Amino acid sequence: MKVLKFGGTSVGSAERIVHVARLIVENGKNIVVLSAMAGTTNTLVEINDYLYKRNIPGAQETLNNLEMKYRAVIDELFDNDEARAEAARVLDERFAYIRTIVASEFAIAEEKEILAQGELMSTALMNIYLRLHGVKSVLLPALEYMRTDQNGEPDMKYIATRLRRLLEANRDADVYLTQGYICCNAYGEVDNLKRGGSDYSASLIGAVIDAEEIQIWTDIDGMHNNDPRYVDNTRPVGSLNFEEAAELAYFGAKILHPNCVLPAKLNNIPVRLLNTLDPSAAGTVIYNMPPDGKIKAVAAKDNITAIKIKSGRMLLAYGFLHKVFETFEKYQTSIDMIATSEVGVTVTIDSDRHLAAIVDDLKNFGTVTVDRDMVIICVVGDLEWHNTGFEAKAVSALKDIPIRVISYGGSNYNVSMLIRSCDKVEALKRLSASLFE
Ligand code: ASP
Ligand code: MG
Repeated sequence: MKVLKFGGTSVGSAERIVHVARLIVENGKNIVVLSAMAGTTNTLVEINDYLYKRNIPGAQETLNNLEMKYRAVIDELFDNDEARAEAARVLDERFAYIRTIVASEFAIAEEKEILAQGELMSTALMNIYLRLHGVKSVLLPALEYMRTDQNGEPDMKYIATRLRRLLEANRDADVYLTQGYICCNAYGEVDNLKRGGSDYSASLIGAVIDAEEIQIWTDIDGMHNNDPRYVDNTRPVGSLNFEEAAELAYFGAKILHPNCVLPAKLNNIPVRLLNTLDPSAAGTVIYNMPPDGKIKAVAAKDNITAIKIKSGRMLLAYGFLHKVFETFEKYQTSIDMIATSEVGVTVTIDSDRHLAAIVDDLKNFGTVTVDRDMVIICVVGDLEWHNTGFEAKAVSALKDIPIRVISYGGSNYNVSMLIRSCDKVEALKRLSASLFE
């Protein structure tokens, strides 16, 4: 069995629900994880916000607008009176429930209940739609099996036992539907796996049922080998290992957060990124793939600041880097790249929030220079150090571009170069031309 997760835009309208229903049926007996329809969770967050501010009319108006959208969706989705009435009953129930919360003294615990309604509705509507079309679809209520423990971590034993029991009790289903994102906490209260958590749900479910594959369906055809906004002829990357995917995640590549896919990685389950709008495209598969010695992708991260601390005291001294790092820790600023020499160290940060204070403190240890408006360009792939040539290729592609920092060796999966942001587009183009053409 596979786990198929469809995100908010994939089920964002009646038309898209119909399309996804077809994909679900074509793929056979699997567990399908759905997000809330696009925009819903944001709207529910907004409603909570009004409630915090004790602006009840604000909450009511936002809720009414949301309800109108859903009423329009079911009118378009169902031409069968009975099915439409059933869907209307689901909406009646969900919206009435939110209204009782809105009307009552608002409690923190109920914030999560409001947030859970989006996934409850999207799965209920899909279930009615599939059944209307003769598919024996069974809803597996996430609140009955998805649970976190006292540390807020998934309670894997509980999830496995409960989910298996539900599957066992519904063996004759054609397909299983379930909600992403929502769960119960250790005290049995409604909770969630944080924004964007449906991917995490899919990965957890895949891990406990030992799925053949976890498919994440969005509306792009996988992860591209360079940024299509700046470079022509980028191509989807066919396959990546989990480490390469983790390196790319920092660069905002359209890829899953490493935490989300950790259960898949640990249980050795491939994660495939697929495109709802182009279902036959191969997409990108992330798995514990054996080394292939290939460069997979290039990515860039904007708004980087480089800070250099130079000091004669660093030479042959111990504890110098410790003091430098401690300064960043004090201001809760994470360091991304590091380059050292015997007389100085350069680090980069992607948040300037505490820059002035950090620089002020660092002046106690040496001469400090700051370069702002920089970009990290990174080349990701299986760059095992015994293999030769890949660093040379990366650096020589940028031979006419000033490079402020070069970093390799933190992992076998990336070579990073820090350049000026005005050189970014040119650098990305040249790397594509030299690495992928
Ligand atoms: N609906 C939730 C959100 O918008 C979860 C998800 O879509 O992954 O964050
Ligand atoms: Mg998402």
